[in-house]
Amino acid sequence: MISVQKRLTPILLLILAALITSGCEQQEEVIATRFLAFGTLIDLSIVGVSKEQAAAATAAIEKDFAQMHKAWHAWDPGPLGRVNRLIATGTSFVVPPSVLEMIRHSKQLAIESEHLFNPAIGHLIDAWGFHSDDPEGHKPPHPEIIDQLLRQKPRMTDLELDGINLRSSNPNLKLDFGAFGKGFGIDLAIDHLRQMGIENAILNAGGDLRAIGSPRNRPWRIAIRHPSGKGALASVEVSGDESIFTSGDYERKFTWKGKTYHHIIDPRTGYPARGTSSVTVIHPEAATADAAATALFVAGPDNWYNIARKMGVKYVLLVDKTGTIHMNPAMQTRLKLDEKKLKIQLSPVLAE
Ligand code: AMP
Ligand code: MG
Repeated sequence: MISVQKRLTPILLLILAALITSGCEQQEEVIATRFLAFGTLIDLSIVGVSKEQAAAATAAIEKDFAQMHKAWHAWDPGPLGRVNRLIATGTSFVVPPSVLEMIRHSKQLAIESEHLFNPAIGHLIDAWGFHSDDPEGHKPPHPEIIDQLLRQKPRMTDLELDGINLRSSNPNLKLDFGAFGKGFGIDLAIDHLRQMGIENAILNAGGDLRAIGSPRNRPWRIAIRHPSGKGALASVEVSGDESIFTSGDYERKFTWKGKTYHHIIDPRTGYPARGTSSVTVIHPEAATADAAATALFVAGPDNWYNIARKMGVKYVLLVDKTGTIHMNPAMQTRLKLDEKKLKIQLSPVLAE
């Protein structure tokens, strides 16, 4: 598995290069810090405030992430674990505030994605062993187990929210926010940064990020990860408020009897989604970008366009298993591709 450290390096370098070239007369300093949360390294780069203000903001955000990590962990005990236990009882209960909005938001996105993004398949994810930080050494579940879990048909629409009360009509539903928590958390942290007077920052969690503002009115330049998991495939300029999320088959995987199984599960088959190597989505909101990257990965080269339209996503880049790049014209105009001689398949225009 590629180390997080390795994956972050090109992104940081590009961000820093963009900043250094932007300053002619007076350079604005990037105050960068790094901490661990959600099993990944989080890089926070702040521009345009004093060192003291940046340090206070960083300490607050680090604390936020530690709390979110605890609250939303799919397999450690905590609020989400409690919600999952109560879901299994079929009774109505009061949802902890740290989980309530997440359920509401992810339910909406699951519906828009036609349930290809389906955080209700926690039992299936458990069966595959992808709730472990290092699944290498695992083996695929028995086909009968997968069949049984598929027959239970857990979906976010099984969850009935009535104010702060929740009930699941399906006791076999288990929430797993592995595909969404990072994005949702980054949005909350960006709101918090703004409340603290920070207007120019990048919050980068293992290569998935949200940027706000721009240093000295120049765009941030961000690298898009190569589907091999190593280095950059392209770069894109970002200014204002945008998130870039990538879902790739290289992130969590194991090999069994010569076959490699990755962690993005097609909820229709119960097996790792086929046909896609990686998907990158740009969207203002990190939560939507995170959910959409996962959903479009599952949708694959033939169906990503339809699901992107339904989810209101305007910029998509999908690399299929043959290495062909599928994207919409608006994404192409923004990209600076690092490799020549790439096979590119352009889709029709997505909703502008
Ligand atoms: P991501 O890297 O954002 O695509 O998220 C992948 C993680 O989300 C996996 O490790 C699982 O925990 C979970 N997951 C896998 N497949 C799905 C799916 N189809 N819908 C929602 N969550 C999923
Ligand atoms: Mg995701």
